[in-house]
Amino acid sequence: MKPEVLLSRIRVVLCRPSHPGNIGAAARAMKTMGLSDLRLVNPKQFPDPEADTRATGAVDLLDNAKITATLAEALADSVFAVAVSARQRDLGPAVGTPRETMARLLEAAQQGVVALVFGNETMGLSNEEVLQCQAAVTIPTNPDFSSLNLGAAVQVLCYECRMAAFSGAAPLSSQGATPFVSPPATHDEIEGLYGHLETLMTDTGFFNPQQPGRLMPKLRRLFGRAGLEKDEINILRGILASTQVRTGHGRKG
Ligand code: SAH
Repeated sequence: MKPEVLLSRIRVVLCRPSHPGNIGAAARAMKTMGLSDLRLVNPKQFPDPEADTRATGAVDLLDNAKITATLAEALADSVFAVAVSARQRDLGPAVGTPRETMARLLEAAQQGVVALVFGNETMGLSNEEVLQCQAAVTIPTNPDFSSLNLGAAVQVLCYECRMAAFSGAAPLSSQGATPFVSPPATHDEIEGLYGHLETLMTDTGFFNPQQPGRLMPKLRRLFGRAGLEKDEINILRGILASTQVRTGHGRKG
């Protein structure tokens, strides 16, 4: 697949950005590296002249940017999402370096839309947002001053994407060589599995929603590592459904 096509499949998602100027800077950073798919989750102020000014020649990306109320909507059709975070979290997927993680992202882009998920300028990403991603990345920095400006963080990762796309490196996995392989599950399908698991575990008493602890984050991390395929989701949900029937916990109607 051509590097330009792979880059066109990378979606940049900005969660709750506060400053329109940073949205413009992100658009410019993307366009210089050949990316174009920008999504804004609940931007505080957009559209805005400050965004247009900072975007300069990349106003077309702002015009085409889609706005959603939730991260789940922004990721619905994606097959792989990376949380871009300045801080190490105790919950969420293992954190990789930009170089190795962007190589994984490009590999997943051969299968469909992939996403880089950035956080708010002051708060960063919420735990709930991080838990919707299958991988996480932190840009190595001066440990005494580790927080980049949002637009600068977008620039660094888009650059790494471009380098990975044009490196000509062989794809990490050999396409089509694995028997029984099915297309990767989408974000929507994976969230459907988590919802199903949570319902069944609540019904059987294994999971107490009043005291959730770390069960769901741990399961998300487990399945995030696995890189679920559509067929695998169907199998797992089939097992869950059969258990519900046996235990009388099947959904009525
Ligand atoms: N104070 C916030 C930082 C927000 S900076 C916090 O502690 O999380 C805004 C966004 O830019 C972050 O959510 C992240 O997506 C990105 N960013 C900033 N510095 C980064 C770094 N060193 N590595 C990865 N992402 C970074």
